[in-house]
Amino acid sequence: MSNRRFNPFDSAARPALQLLQLDLYRRAGIEVWMLRLDKVHPLISGNKWYKLKYTLQELVRRGEKRVLTFGGAYSNHVHALAFAGQAMGIETIGVIRGEPAYAANPTLSDARGWGMQLEFVDRATYRSRRDPDFELQLHKRFGDFGLVAEGGFGPLGLLGCREIIAGLDGVAEFDLIGVAAGTGGTLAGLLAAKPVASRLLGFSALKGADFLRQDITALLQQAGEADPGGWALQLDAHCGGYARTTPLLAAFMAAFRQKTGVTLDPVYTGKMLLRFNQMVTDGEVAPGSRVLLIHTGGLQGLRGMEKTLYDQEHAHRGGLPL
Ligand SMILES: *Cc1c(COP(=O)(O)O)cnc(C)c1O
Repeated sequence: MSNRRFNPFDSAARPALQLLQLDLYRRAGIEVWMLRLDKVHPLISGNKWYKLKYTLQELVRRGEKRVLTFGGAYSNHVHALAFAGQAMGIETIGVIRGEPAYAANPTLSDARGWGMQLEFVDRATYRSRRDPDFELQLHKRFGDFGLVAEGGFGPLGLLGCREIIAGLDGVAEFDLIGVAAGTGGTLAGLLAAKPVASRLLGFSALKGADFLRQDITALLQQAGEADPGGWALQLDAHCGGYARTTPLLAAFMAAFRQKTGVTLDPVYTGKMLLRFNQMVTDGEVAPGSRVLLIHTGGLQGLRGMEKTLYDQEHAHRGGLPL
């Protein structure tokens, strides 16, 4: 039997920078560029390529044969990890929040196709994912495994995410760098490589994400990185909650795609762009600013929501900040 393995993190990813040409930006006198991490790898999408790079390489180095991780039913992280695991010859287990019926959705069908074993748990159980007791139970059930935290959050994830901007030509010329945040792991990685004069702004996809600042600070400390300051969180970008969408968001994403050619996802990047453009409309971005927005990729959220988004898009009345 041939069991060919390769390391999908071998080759250096070189994401393109795209100038976003919107009337809104021209009128405001600002220049906005997008870093297309969504184009870095066809299946280990966006920031997940960077988050998993050292995390998985280290598990392989330790001789781990099997990894277990956590995620939602449309998780970009679960999808990426399932593919990377198969490529690298590691067994994967996904502990998924929700009903077993989700196993048939496109995201988890892909994951199963790449050999991932799925374990569905209810919301209450999922909330205990960081409890040592729960981990013990999982070991009793599955035996040995290396643990990868939800979203690849951790010092090695941070190390990978540094590289998103660490090697980027001209990055110091951006006044503002924006990124969507779930766990905040990517934001922490960017902070570790932040040019002194740039400001960093994280747009939370979750409602009530007051814990984020603390989590990010703790992760920086754990990784031995100083907090460089000069960063903030935008906590009101969530459109009603994690994975919630609105007619405004749906219509905005469709119009944005039409004007720029860039597909956004409804969970993370769509909300960041909508909120950023509202900031521009409100005059909160100074004329002359050069802005870098990170497209963190991950279009799994879109696969679960196409119908809803289509209906919402056509229900929207009123203007759009473009
Ligand atoms: C996972 C993900 C994020 C969130 O990254 P964190 O490091 O958890 O903050 C943002 N955007 C996309 C598209 C993602 O898939």
